[in-house]
Amino acid sequence: MVENSELRKAGLKVTLPRVKILQMLDSADQRHMSAEDVYKALMNAGEDVGLATVYRVLTQFESAGLVIRHNFDGGHAVFELADADGGHHDHMVNVDTSEVIEFFDEEIEKLQHAIATKHGFELVDHNLVLYVRKSGK
Ligand SMILES: [Zn+2]
Repeated sequence: MVENSELRKAGLKVTLPRVKILQMLDSADQRHMSAEDVYKALMNAGEDVGLATVYRVLTQFESAGLVIRHNFDGGHAVFELADADGGHHDHMVNVDTSEVIEFFDEEIEKLQHAIATKHGFELVDHNLVLYVRKSGK
């Protein structure tokens, strides 16, 4: 099972709740899920994993670098699987629906490096979130 080796690679022991939660994050249509989303999805799939366990496991996954936690304004923390290839993307959050949209823009990436350089810094990381609303209503 892929999940088992992923857990071991991250230095985590293979336990049933960890495997179930990792599978759920991997297979869900929604890429950004709150702990409640994961809990409900597991329940709907007939898996008996408590909410406290989901919280604990997601935090362990975060520490191990398996998932990334986002604390978008006005919402719960959401988790997404870290890209295996170290890929990067930014996010938009629809303030009306809390939907999370991913995007990547070469120009913005370049511009951020340029701004850091202009101030005498080297860009190490960045976190860009756009809060949006459907236009034309
Ligand atoms: Zn994302």
